[in-house]
Amino acid sequence: MAAVTSISGGFRMADGAGVVGRQGDVFEMRVSVPTDEDGFFGRQCPGCSQVFRVDSDEYEALPEDLRLWCGSRPGLRTAAL
Ligand SMILES: [Zn+2]
Repeated sequence: MAAVTSISGGFRMADGAGVVGRQGDVFEMRVSVPTDEDGFFGRQCPGCSQVFRVDSDEYEALPEDLRLWCGSRPGLRTAAL
């Protein structure tokens, strides 16, 4: 069974997380996200907070600064945040 936390740079962190750089009080971290049996992992929409799945191969091909939405347009939202 995998450990729940690991030590990296003196900080307790989850499996797959690690500090890769530091500038003063700002830390740069790399976090790996495990996929499910279909190669998908979960994301949460920044607009409506809906949780949806993303194909990890398609995600890898996307620009790094792209914000992923669930697919609904903000103007069409009717549910409370
Ligand atoms: Zn949404």
